[in-house]
Amino acid sequence: MKEIKDSISAILWMGLFAIVAAVLVTFFDKIFTSIGINMNEIGGCIAYPLSILITIILLGTIIQKLDNKKKTTDLSSLYPKNWYEIRALALSRDNYQCGNCHAPAIHVHHIVPLSKGGTNDLSNLRSLCENCHKKVHPHMQ
Ligand SMILES: [Zn+2]
Ligand SMILES: [Zn+2]
Repeated sequence: MKEIKDSISAILWMGLFAIVAAVLVTFFDKIFTSIGINMNEIGGCIAYPLSILITIILLGTIIQKLDNKKKTTDLSSLYPKNWYEIRALALSRDNYQCGNCHAPAIHVHHIVPLSKGGTNDLSNLRSLCENCHKKVHPHMQ
């Protein structure tokens, strides 16, 4: 399903790209014609690359802004700003050992998941190695 969604949004972005570029070309066409530059020669050589460049910059900025917004709304609601500090505290409390098999821990697991109302309190955190963490979240492969 995600792939279909992604390709639909890619097509939409391409369509938007074409529209914005076409509008810009028309715009340059009008300006160049009004000041006497021939669009079939030098005018076109300037207008087309310039329109595409402006479109790339414009849409690139918009996509980046949307992406940032998505990231902050997805994570900030669940993870606190000082998550890295909390995570480091949990790891050092557990001596960087997996709470399950005592292998070196690189993950910090929420005993009660955030999505089920768990907190970022140290009492709700447990250091785990990658293998054990995958076992707790079988879908997270
Ligand atoms: Zn382990
Ligand atoms: Zn976990």
